[in-house]
Amino acid sequence: MFKGGERLTKDRELLIKDLLIFDAHCDTANVIFDDSSYFIKENKSHLSLDKIKKGGLKAQIFAIYVNPVYSPYRSIKKALLVYNALEQKFFSKGYAVKVTSTSEMKSSISKGKLACWLSLEGGHIIENSTEILEFFYFLGFRSMTLTHTKNTDWADSSGDEPKWDGLNNLGRKIIAKMNNLGMIIDASHASDKTVEDVLEISKMPIMASHSSARTLCDISRNISDNLIKEIAERNGFIGVNFFPGFLKKEINRQVLKNMEKYNEWYQEKIKGVDNPDTLNSAEMKFYTKIVEGNDKVDLNSLIDHIIHISDVGGIDCVGLGSDFDGIPSTPTNLTDVSCYPALVNGLFDRGFRKEEIRKIMGLNLFNFFKIFDK
Ligand SMILES: [Zn+2]
Repeated sequence: MFKGGERLTKDRELLIKDLLIFDAHCDTANVIFDDSSYFIKENKSHLSLDKIKKGGLKAQIFAIYVNPVYSPYRSIKKALLVYNALEQKFFSKGYAVKVTSTSEMKSSISKGKLACWLSLEGGHIIENSTEILEFFYFLGFRSMTLTHTKNTDWADSSGDEPKWDGLNNLGRKIIAKMNNLGMIIDASHASDKTVEDVLEISKMPIMASHSSARTLCDISRNISDNLIKEIAERNGFIGVNFFPGFLKKEINRQVLKNMEKYNEWYQEKIKGVDNPDTLNSAEMKFYTKIVEGNDKVDLNSLIDHIIHISDVGGIDCVGLGSDFDGIPSTPTNLTDVSCYPALVNGLFDRGFRKEEIRKIMGLNLFNFFKIFDK
């Protein structure tokens, strides 16, 4: 009897076993800051010790996200508090290893430890100071998104009305400093014009760590074909975001409808509040309410975006940018990092070859980071 099916399953199992799974964006640092037991025991987090083991995740970029509501004067404090929580409750307990080069990453993986890269999410965190940027580099941070959902004083965001027509002079100075330091420029969240300006002046390739394809879901937070091409031509990287509202336009419409529905509730919660911690937690609660109806998206929608980005930019530019622990809902069969084998199977089912799957699941991101090794 022909055993082709079994052989195929065996092949897949072998690939999954030794695969380098390396994801470009998660917000688990903030979960650990709030309560590290979520990560260690309770399993409410998209990333937790047993899920990492089960899914075979080997390396992860941990974003230190600071809500723009902490701007202008309290964002560094918040970033340092979250970073300190990672150091005290995570690295020093031996749950994972902070890495700053691909050789450190390889050594951590060979010891069976999750390799963690650090990134800053939101250019407002450096409070317009290249010295503070340098300080974060010194602490081990190796990338930064230029904005979050609001413009900074030097770069326009995809979530805000244009103010600087992209980057202003200070923005150009910060890009030059990032290039000099070897800090990776992360284009996710920035406006198209900001990314175009960066591509014009940056001496190094850039990444969009957690952005899906705009052609498949037409929203400003997603990345255009033109920018996919430009980033890929300069040896850059694009990590696909798993949030259902970024994957399918009809789901995005539902999210916007829910936003309207809960807006009054939200406005009532934040009325007269100026404490950024309270504003931040109200916003988080609001985001968990707006995903009603998001459960109609499965991992094939995510694979559609992977296929599209590799069609436009080539197979060497695309990878994972899950946004786990930062997204309030996920595709139905990709609910946390333990589901990565299902994604590998899904890629096989859609016709990707072994070597292509290796690239998508982590090798492309590894090769991109290699460019920045000193
Ligand atoms: Zn983000």
